[in-house]
Amino acid sequence: MQRVCEETDAVKREVENRKGDLRAADVGLIISVWKKLQEVQKEISDLETRKNAISAKVRALVDEHDKSTLASLEEYTSAREEGRAIREKLGQLYVQEGELEKEHYCRALRLPNRSHPSVPIGDESQARVVELVGEKREFDFKPKGHLEIGESLDIIRQRRLAHVSGHRSYYLRGAGAGLQFALQNYTMDFLQKRVTIFASVVYSLDPSRFPDLNLAGTGEVGVAGYFMDHAVNFKDLPVRTVCSSTCYRAETDTGREAWGLYRVHHFNKVEMFGVTSNETGEESSQLLDEFVMLQKEIFSSLKLHYRVLDMPTQELGPPAFRKYDIEAWMPGRGSFGEISSASNCTDYQSRRLNILYEGNDGNLKYAHTVNATACAVPRTVIAILETHQTKEGTILVPEVLRHYLGSEVIEKPK
Ligand code: AMP
Repeated sequence: MQRVCEETDAVKREVENRKGDLRAADVGLIISVWKKLQEVQKEISDLETRKNAISAKVRALVDEHDKSTLASLEEYTSAREEGRAIREKLGQLYVQEGELEKEHYCRALRLPNRSHPSVPIGDESQARVVELVGEKREFDFKPKGHLEIGESLDIIRQRRLAHVSGHRSYYLRGAGAGLQFALQNYTMDFLQKRVTIFASVVYSLDPSRFPDLNLAGTGEVGVAGYFMDHAVNFKDLPVRTVCSSTCYRAETDTGREAWGLYRVHHFNKVEMFGVTSNETGEESSQLLDEFVMLQKEIFSSLKLHYRVLDMPTQELGPPAFRKYDIEAWMPGRGSFGEISSASNCTDYQSRRLNILYEGNDGNLKYAHTVNATACAVPRTVIAILETHQTKEGTILVPEVLRHYLGSEVIEKPK
């Protein structure tokens, strides 16, 4: 809040640039509630000091047994009276403090992170292409979309089984299911030497019994929580982890991508999550670059054509200070589609989760956190099926996955 007060204009500008549900005026309101809270806390602290002084005085008068003289009896009575009035006033102020604290937290928690100064301003169309890797594959036939390929090879079933759980749900069968595990195992193995592995983080719940619990949208939730209320030893930083998890997305926008694997309710993802110190101000930016390098190595090894985008302000979620998306060319769709995302959240998550580190000077400081998709299965499957399809309708499995899948080609089962 101190920083928000010192840099109010910049904070307001950045909030407006995000076009989230917060406006510049809300920042003004957050500051005014916080200042009011500070005033009340100052008043409480002054009154508590006064109350302690009076208590000491009353004790001294009692100890001296001096109440017999009229002057000290009057002094004693008026001190007791003032003490009672202060206690009454303090009672009211504690209630006011509690209410203001609640209001302050509700409002201030909605503040998004600051934005990196180089982040492009605007909507999706302002994304800056940082790098284009590989080339669009040339086809001597009309490339099909992944659902058509998947259904004809009988490795994806969706439309026929829509009655089971509706659109945005799907079945991966045979080599399709194999591809899911091959991708997860390959990315976990690929990252094994560079990171600490976490087991799958999956939540299941009965909403009628656990109304406050949510299904996690990404493994990052569980792994970030692992570091909650924790002081990481400086010499262990940066911490690099990878986690395989099931992700649940409400995807309430019914119109878009209703069929196929592009936008589904439930999918598996391998996610990197890192914790860094903040001594030079550059550590989390460096880890973000490192994670993007790893993402590129993975997608290049799958022989995909892709581009890296520096995402503009309106595309940053509240925690992100900077975000790079990777979009793969999907020949059947005839467009680039987002397959992964990497964000530097600086101290936004660690302030909320109380993730600390002990600096070299022995003081506890807020750490920085970074997250990046290593492999979100459904969209990687789309990019693989559409890129590596053949005229005969089979799929040439990228070399790095062959060992995991146990075959070089995906064909229609005989
Ligand atoms: P996010 O955690 O929202 O940044 O998403 C990370 C990656 O997960 C995206 O780049 C997509 O590849 C994938 N993804 C996100 N939402 C969905 C969805 N509803 N269906 C399939 N894949 C998704």
